[in-house]
Amino acid sequence: MISYIGIGSNQKDPVKQAKQAIEALKTLTNSELTKCSSLYCSAPMGPQDQPDYINAVAEIKTQLSALELLDALQKIELDQGRVRKDNRWGPRTLDLDIILYDNQTIHNNRLTIPHYGMNTREFVLYPLHEIAPNLSLPNNTLLSQLVSLCDKNGLTKISDIHHNK
Ligand code: ATP
Ligand code: MG
Ligand code: MG
Repeated sequence: MISYIGIGSNQKDPVKQAKQAIEALKTLTNSELTKCSSLYCSAPMGPQDQPDYINAVAEIKTQLSALELLDALQKIELDQGRVRKDNRWGPRTLDLDIILYDNQTIHNNRLTIPHYGMNTREFVLYPLHEIAPNLSLPNNTLLSQLVSLCDKNGLTKISDIHHNK
């Protein structure tokens, strides 16, 4: 299965957190990191009294089920000091979301795939488009179409930062 993972951080050196998350994704069991976008800087969603975010999207090839993948991603979040709080969209050291899982549509109590927010989130669409420009969604919507409809909202690529695949 090919899956795309959204990475976000705005606490405790977000660039370091994002890079560390990318390193952790390289060590996922029964998986391989196949692509990674540049790092991007985005304005916070929801509460505005928090720092900007660093975001990226990674492509992995995996034999894990979607739920096994979620478990593994939540473990990485906890390893990097994520504290689950009540306030949604508040500051966090690391958020790892499953954006897409192959061409599947999944709805259960732990997972909604495609990620419910992907269509309107510039910090997901632009990095995803960087690494998968020809992608289409399970409902056949073209990613490039979604990108063209999505305001950049100040999103900037941090182009002087290099990280290996
Ligand atoms: P948002 O979902 O709006 O991006 P968030 O990422 O901050 O907000 P979290 O606190 O990280 O939300 O996750 C809350 C719950 O969302 C998780 O416990 C998980 O079960 C569920 N969830 C549903 N769909 C997904 C998905 N595609 N990827 C990751 N988590 C998901
Ligand atoms: Mg999220
Ligand atoms: Mg999340």
